[in-house]
Amino acid sequence: MAYSKDQQEFGFAKSRTLTSQCQQCDYQFACYGECPKNRFIKTRNGEPGLNYLCAGWKKFFSHADKALAYILRATGNPVAHGKFSDRAVAEQRKMAMQSVVQKINTTNATGFNPKF
Ligand code: SF4
Repeated sequence: MAYSKDQQEFGFAKSRTLTSQCQQCDYQFACYGECPKNRFIKTRNGEPGLNYLCAGWKKFFSHADKALAYILRATGNPVAHGKFSDRAVAEQRKMAMQSVVQKINTTNATGFNPKF
């Protein structure tokens, strides 16, 4: 049954019918548009095929994201996805460091920086 044509079509529909909103979603890795049978509302841009549970899923994922990342790190595992992924945290640190360097570089010769 798992390899039946209907079952395979249903499985392929999960990726083939993903909306552009889902493709850009921070939680696509976990949700992937959820079940295709539930995709019957429109996206913010009016594109059909968004899951009617989307708002709830986003609320859940945004609530759980930080705690799950913490648990993964505390247990020595990489955090590959989400707003608190290793890559996202590294990017935030890099931006913060660039901001500090920029402030230091704008300090004038007297050591006074009017921006601080
Ligand atoms: S949370 Fe919403 S936008 Fe994100 S993948 Fe799921 S259905 Fe799509």
